[in-house]
Amino acid sequence: MTIFERVIAGEFGTKFLYEDDTVVAFRDMNPQAPVHALVVPRRALPGISHATPESEALLGHVLAVAAEVARREGIAGGGYRLVINDGTNGGQTVPHLHVHVLGARPMAWPPG
Ligand code: 5GP
Repeated sequence: MTIFERVIAGEFGTKFLYEDDTVVAFRDMNPQAPVHALVVPRRALPGISHATPESEALLGHVLAVAAEVARREGIAGGGYRLVINDGTNGGQTVPHLHVHVLGARPMAWPPG
């Protein structure tokens, strides 16, 4: 069971910024920006590199929810960044697909 499955099960009392049948969003516990949320499918896919053609609808929904979370968090007007880390070189630490929503500060490019 991934740590996000435990969050989704309500084990830590995490407040959801958004939830529906397939996806939840909550604040990152170690924020890298004034707004830093995670959009997480309820059913664990280990990472984006594990996506299959059957994942396409879910992935589209996750991105649409990320945009909705940005609106709800008040960062849509100023711009924001969505990030998916994958695997070791990608800096992924939780093997449960998630999209980071980062905003309310300027973002540097390229990422470190
Ligand atoms: P990754 O490095 O896998 O892309 O990102 C995982 C993110 O999950 C990290 O930013 C980390 O702070 C966050 N995180 C890990 N465990 C928990 C948790 O139990 N609750 C919350 N809210 N965030 C978590």
